[in-house]
Amino acid sequence: VEPVLGGTVKTTCPYCGTGCGVLATPRPDGTVAIAGDPDHPANFGRLCSKGAALGETLGLADRLVHPRIGGARASWDEALDLVARRFSETIAAHGPDSVAFYVSGQLLTEDYYIANKLMKGFIGSGNIDTNSRLCMSSSVAGHVRAFGADTVPGTYEDLEHADLVVLVGSNLAWCHPVLYQRIAAAKAARPDLRIVLIDPRRTATADLADLHLALAPDADAALFSGLLAFLDEAGVVNTDYVARHTEGFAAALDAARAWTLPRLARRTGLAADQILSFFRLFAVREKVVTVYSQGVNQSVCGTDKVNAILNCHLATGRIGREGMGPFSVTGQPNAMGGREVGGLANMLAAHLRLEDAAHRDLAQGFWQSPAIAAKPGLKAVDLFRAVGAGRIKALWIMGTNPVVSMPEADGVADALRRCPFVAVSDIMARTDTLDLAHVALPAAGWGEKDGTVTNSERRISRQRPFLARPGEARPDWWIIAEVARRMGFGEAFAYEGPADIFDEHARLSAAGNAGSRDFDLSGLVGLDPAGYESLAPVQWPVTQAGGRTRFFAEGGFFHPGGKARFVVPEGEQTSATGLISPSARGEIDRSERHLLLTVRLNSGRVRDHWHTMTRTGLSARLSGHIAEPYAEIHPEDAARAGLREAEIVRLRSPHGEVLLRCLMTDRVRPGEIFAPMHWNGPFASKARIDALVEARVDPVSGQPALKGSRVSIARY
Ligand code: SF4
Repeated sequence: VEPVLGGTVKTTCPYCGTGCGVLATPRPDGTVAIAGDPDHPANFGRLCSKGAALGETLGLADRLVHPRIGGARASWDEALDLVARRFSETIAAHGPDSVAFYVSGQLLTEDYYIANKLMKGFIGSGNIDTNSRLCMSSSVAGHVRAFGADTVPGTYEDLEHADLVVLVGSNLAWCHPVLYQRIAAAKAARPDLRIVLIDPRRTATADLADLHLALAPDADAALFSGLLAFLDEAGVVNTDYVARHTEGFAAALDAARAWTLPRLARRTGLAADQILSFFRLFAVREKVVTVYSQGVNQSVCGTDKVNAILNCHLATGRIGREGMGPFSVTGQPNAMGGREVGGLANMLAAHLRLEDAAHRDLAQGFWQSPAIAAKPGLKAVDLFRAVGAGRIKALWIMGTNPVVSMPEADGVADALRRCPFVAVSDIMARTDTLDLAHVALPAAGWGEKDGTVTNSERRISRQRPFLARPGEARPDWWIIAEVARRMGFGEAFAYEGPADIFDEHARLSAAGNAGSRDFDLSGLVGLDPAGYESLAPVQWPVTQAGGRTRFFAEGGFFHPGGKARFVVPEGEQTSATGLISPSARGEIDRSERHLLLTVRLNSGRVRDHWHTMTRTGLSARLSGHIAEPYAEIHPEDAARAGLREAEIVRLRSPHGEVLLRCLMTDRVRPGEIFAPMHWNGPFASKARIDALVEARVDPVSGQPALKGSRVSIARY
């Protein structure tokens, strides 16, 4: 791809799931001017600090620009031949389930599509999972349980039409800043718009909230179950909608009634009048949007939390109408695209169901493939455990750094060291994961690659290239197709470019689909390269009639019979090893040299960094917002541990240890601390938060409980 010097290219931000449109203009001096795209419906010209600084992060420092084998430079032929040979030999000797791919929400949809096609349709295993498992797989599972498909019912505009926006487990101000800006602008224009924040931590998002409920961790399902019972008592259940379009309401209501106000107050740690304030707001405001994110999903009971929220919207029929609906916001730029193509180990492609024999036949027939995965593959945590146990013998990691981001991250590193063959595709020359690879494959980065992404509101947007690829870097789709060709599957992977792959993806979505599946791109079948190049942002499904904004206002769910299902959340699970009671908070291990206090670790993002900082860490401006890793610790806990402001605190769990700066604040609840998940690498090797986190998962979704491990804190 030649640089388009002087020309402005419309593309999409590579960071959060908001999916903002970006105008990128390369300058003759090699820099790139960045602006928000005023025509893009996600952001209408807005950008947050990370998006605005994209031009500062495009340098070639530390880029991986040549293939490497065993750390030494190799040719593409040597590297691709080796990957194909090791995968083929492993499959021949040990079967298709002895290999795996671990991919990423950073991949473009076209890359994702053929990675999934290769693993599920040609290797014949379900062992492809993605770091999106860590992000929103509980939302996917909740959607499927309630709606019969992984359907986000609404659109960003609903945030502006709502009379009440409920934010659950979401620091929108820092993690989806442009959506926060849209809500803030709506509230400025309509001060009667009410915002409720439900989050154990008083985050920056609380600045906009009329009511902040600092509930106990993982009490969300209880809170929304109590809300369901309240809505029934208040007479605001939409009995007509419930009768015509749902099933299971009586059982859900029966279970919800067990959450009496006193019991709810005990479980949530909230005052009864706070709970009632929220319930009354929800009851009287017809136009309600409930936005939820990682605070809901990253939990051992994440799927139940999602369904408890969906139950309240189904009961009131507040779904799929203007200004109403539950709204899962995804963390990554293309988490939604991964869901579309079957990037999760338990999904097929085009929202075909892996557990449905007719769907498997449809996919296999469409691909003309020699095999089809007959059962779900290993989800992220189990996948790396299988690597450690020697059951996965060849692993290809694409565009992600699990040695930093997976729970029990040191265990993941050990597993990779023991794995007979690890290939890693990345844009950077040094990452904790790449250091353990037998083969390193240089991938094209943002601004160099070409394809599509889908944001949290189901909107497909183009990422377009405007820079030359450095050295020998290649697009991920090309690398995957070349390996497939060398494994003997050339005919099925003979793509000219991403437009070809997108067309195949669209045709698969249309195959055998007469409205029986939510995901449908039949209106985009047959796009020629020029049509693909000029594709404007559009929300799926896209039929001949165009895109679609909302689902379910008139029912039309995807379970057999077309009805939504209420789900009864199961009990009072919690992600930590038991709830942290006031007595447990003072637990002191006197065998330690210093006072040692056990607390619950919450983790998340800061405003100006993205994931493992490979890109945002290049910007001095972004790094200046928060310059070093830290832990937010309540003053009571700091006093118990003998900690002073700004000194170094040591956090320990059975899985690892980190050293962080102590930031004393009552933003966190006593007994709970918060630490960002970004810092890593040689200068911050003792700040890898996920090294501390226990790899417990939601039993339905397999999503790890990244916000609920017990750790000890002590002076360093
Ligand atoms: Fe990028 Fe998200 Fe910021 Fe938009 S809100 S500019 S998508 S990081």
